[in-house]
Amino acid sequence: MSYKENTKEIDIVYQSKENNTPSQEFIYVVPMFPYPSENIHMGHVRNYTITNVITNYLRLKGKSVIHPIGFDAFGLPAENAAIKHQKSPNEWTENNIAKMKSNFTDMGFDFDWSTCTQTNHPDYYRFEQEIFRKSYKAGVIYKKSQYVNFDPVDKTVLSNEQVINGKGWRTGADVIRKKMPMYFFNMKKYAKELYDGLNDLKKWPKDVIEMQRKWINYQTGEYFRYDINDNQIDVFKGKNEDNCIIIGINHAFVETYKNNDMDFQNWLNENEKGSVSQKDSFKKETMFDTGLYTLINQKKYPIFIDMNMEDECYFTKRKMTGMFSKEIKAINSYQGEFIGLKDWCISRQRYWGAPIPMINCQDCGDVVDENFVELPNHLIPDVGNALEKEKSFMKCVCSSCGKEAFRCSDTMDTFVQSSWYYHYYITKFFGAHHGIIKKETQIDYYVGGIEHATMHLIYTRFFHKVLRDFNYVSTDEPIKKLITQGMVCKKYINQEGKQVSAKMSKSLGNIVEPADYIEKYGSDALQMFIMFAAPPNQSFDFDDAGIIGCHRFLDDVYRYYFEENKAEKIYSEDKCQETMKKMQIEFDKEFETRFNMNTLISKLMITFKMMKKTNFINQNIKYDCENIFIKYLEVFAPKISFFIKKNIF
Ligand SMILES: [Zn+2]
Repeated sequence: MSYKENTKEIDIVYQSKENNTPSQEFIYVVPMFPYPSENIHMGHVRNYTITNVITNYLRLKGKSVIHPIGFDAFGLPAENAAIKHQKSPNEWTENNIAKMKSNFTDMGFDFDWSTCTQTNHPDYYRFEQEIFRKSYKAGVIYKKSQYVNFDPVDKTVLSNEQVINGKGWRTGADVIRKKMPMYFFNMKKYAKELYDGLNDLKKWPKDVIEMQRKWINYQTGEYFRYDINDNQIDVFKGKNEDNCIIIGINHAFVETYKNNDMDFQNWLNENEKGSVSQKDSFKKETMFDTGLYTLINQKKYPIFIDMNMEDECYFTKRKMTGMFSKEIKAINSYQGEFIGLKDWCISRQRYWGAPIPMINCQDCGDVVDENFVELPNHLIPDVGNALEKEKSFMKCVCSSCGKEAFRCSDTMDTFVQSSWYYHYYITKFFGAHHGIIKKETQIDYYVGGIEHATMHLIYTRFFHKVLRDFNYVSTDEPIKKLITQGMVCKKYINQEGKQVSAKMSKSLGNIVEPADYIEKYGSDALQMFIMFAAPPNQSFDFDDAGIIGCHRFLDDVYRYYFEENKAEKIYSEDKCQETMKKMQIEFDKEFETRFNMNTLISKLMITFKMMKKTNFINQNIKYDCENIFIKYLEVFAPKISFFIKKNIF
């Protein structure tokens, strides 16, 4: 039977592969976990193929590896789908997870299934509530009311990072400003450490480091102190920040200034709309000219209030022309630090999330709920927060005075769950005898999209440091080596009739389904093509010719091992052995340095061609070469290699 006819059998044999039992000393290869969508897409396939290849290589080298998987199971899309289909988000989520698990098996990903974690399971967020309580008591989480970005479609608060050009990152709706009481992680407290720590992340891509550096924006410089209407304001001046002063709308100064300036009051009323996003700052319509200015070294600096900023104020190099009608003089100046990083608002006014363990008592005010708060998972949501309407959830007993009180109906941002899931995998793998967190855990290889450079990857670093300060972990950073994968694109015909390349998306109609290609060419050919098309960090165009080429190669390999080899024998045994040795060295080198897997696949193909045309005289040498080749092929094409090994070696 040919390779193609035998793929079902190869699949069945592969499923008999034994489970992994690593020792306590292991290499930890973690792909960013998926959101449970209906079926896996090529982006998933690429992400998990990369970690699968790393895992296979390390295991080939005799290393003990854990390759986990889980699901980022809370969040808005599940809730929106639930509203649309009138079923519980739990049902939608569990269905999708079951489908994705079967997709992963079809792909031949060698995950350690015992690690499989779902963030919507009570045992997962139980620990998160514990961290919330500790953080709140330690002042790492605090409550405050402030203007926030509010998405009028999803009816939820968005973080600055979730606002893109004034629109909600998911709905695309114009974001509006609203003042609300919410819970925040005090990230500013960790800003300097997060900033300085970037220097130690030697195995991270430089562009990610640069993006985080800009985002955290930690600087030292000079502060100028002013007194305006009996309000003291301290304005930071960094290097070259040399044109005007801007003050955030949430600054204490603004409240009193409002009462003293009718023009500003009117302007404020007219500008209800618009986000609080950092990215939208400096647009003229969001800036109010106070007419005030200050003079430093003969240079005039006008003072503006910025609708899009929070409570910071500083000099900026942005060019703005002011009215310059009234000068104010600095009382003094001093050296200090400036932090661009915002505190992390984790309150979400939505149902499908981990409940925030806080109680509001008429007598005691905000009280920490000392009991585990389980989310009722049967609710069918409507627009707004279904928890608020669920009396059995909302009514509770005050932890402090014992009287009847109400729970906080907010749930936590899903980025909280994705900040520590890699710890829970380990708990599931080894059992909980370490406690929920195994102290030494760090990720050796972390693979995911570059779009997570600032949000997820800063939150994860921050959360790790919080865990460290509560004595759960013994290290400063969670991730040793980071690999950011490029996009999977596909050519399509645009409106002008031109063929162009773009990331696969529904709207462009240039999506190809992994399942179709698995069916046609097998998952090995798909995995191999994905790795052959480009180095992991670069984008590439998906094309059928590439995958067909990989399939043909695997078919050739299959024939070599199971049929008579009729190729002309032109190479000596020595030459073949030498090429095998070179190939192995090349593998070690790429995995140590550049991770250009595509060159390794070329190497495999060249080596195979040579082996096929080798005039073997010594049967031991032949056995050795064939054995080595199949072991290295297994890194990229696990199923067929396992089948050949089982039948021949
Ligand atoms: Zn009370």
